[in-house]
Amino acid sequence: MLGINSDAVTIKQVEVEIIDRAWEQGWVVPQAPSVRTGKRVVVIGSGPAGLAAAQQLTRAGHEVIVLERADRIGGLLRYGIPEFKMEKRHLERRLAQMEAEGTEFRTNATVGENVDIEVLLASYDAIVLAAGATAARELPVPGRELAGIHQAMEYLPLANRVQQGDLASSPIDVAGKHVVIIGGGDTGADCLGTAHRQGAAGVTQLEILPRPPDTRAETNPWPQWSLVLRTSSAHEEGGERVFSVNTERFVDDGTGRVKALLLHEVEMIDGRFQKVEGSERSSRSASSGRRRAHGSNSSVWLSTSGATYVAATTS
Ligand SMILES: Cc1cc2nc3c(=O)[nH]c(=O)nc-3n(C[C@H](O)[C@H](O)[C@H](O)COP(=O)(O)OP(=O)(O)OC[C@H]3O[C@@H](n4cnc5c(N)ncnc54)[C@H](O)[C@@H]3O)c2cc1C
Repeated sequence: MLGINSDAVTIKQVEVEIIDRAWEQGWVVPQAPSVRTGKRVVVIGSGPAGLAAAQQLTRAGHEVIVLERADRIGGLLRYGIPEFKMEKRHLERRLAQMEAEGTEFRTNATVGENVDIEVLLASYDAIVLAAGATAARELPVPGRELAGIHQAMEYLPLANRVQQGDLASSPIDVAGKHVVIIGGGDTGADCLGTAHRQGAAGVTQLEILPRPPDTRAETNPWPQWSLVLRTSSAHEEGGERVFSVNTERFVDDGTGRVKALLLHEVEMIDGRFQKVEGSERSSRSASSGRRRAHGSNSSVWLSTSGATYVAATTS
């Protein structure tokens, strides 16, 4: 939505419809190179960056091999983004096209560990480094070390492995548990949808920023990024969103596991988030009282934008 006149233009849906139809009709076919350059290129990392580079380089006539440390190709497309948001069949058909064009893939190949960078430097004409970020953002508050607190990228890959058929169930399963997600972004929404699919008893998503308006404010005109409330399909499925709150600390259940988190409200003063004194409350009262009574199993999800944690308690 450009937001000039607030009418939706659905650019993404138009593009999705075009490419879905192209695949259906068989218009997307391998484009093998018509010339060979004799140059050899190695691409390190098979996320969207590595795959896009590899496809273009292969089509340009180079001999291309993609090295991936994981057991499957795809990077975050494979193990980060949940199946409900992007079915892996979309990835598989693109990989089949790339293989037919001549791109080679090697999995379980970690450059710097079981693949020597010196050998690559000596053997290839060029190296594309597309290794992604991997490092998650930490949340350095007291109690972070308690058992049951996990990063999103610890939780989501396991759920994706269940979808791939590698695991019967996820070792981090929130069925019947209450979940708190720290961070109101896309990764948090992915955790929200996954938690619901696992049968969570309830999910609350915390966001440090204030609730954005439903429509653009006059101070936020096009072409600025529109600061409006975004509601994904995962949000439409349920859960509660709490804005203008920050995590103060995690609460130990007495056995080294987290049982709750203490949060407080924040307000922006001079460009910085400041605690609203006296606004501290437990995650169990963070939202509208849909939590279970004391004594039941509970589980806390914690995410920050760019990083997510899960805390599971059985108090
Ligand atoms: C949970 C989640 C959901 C997201 N959802 C969306 C979304 O819906 N839409 C969107 O546009 N973006 C989304 N993003 C962001 C998007 O996934 C990333 O921006 C994108 O994947 C980055 O691509 P990349 O190729 O740079 O890195 P990655 O996808 O991280 O791929 C890097 C690859 O390099 C491999 N690698 C690293 N080191 C080595 C090594 N030494 N040797 C060999 N291989 C190595 C890694 O194993 C990995 O497979 C999401 C991100 C997350 C975390």
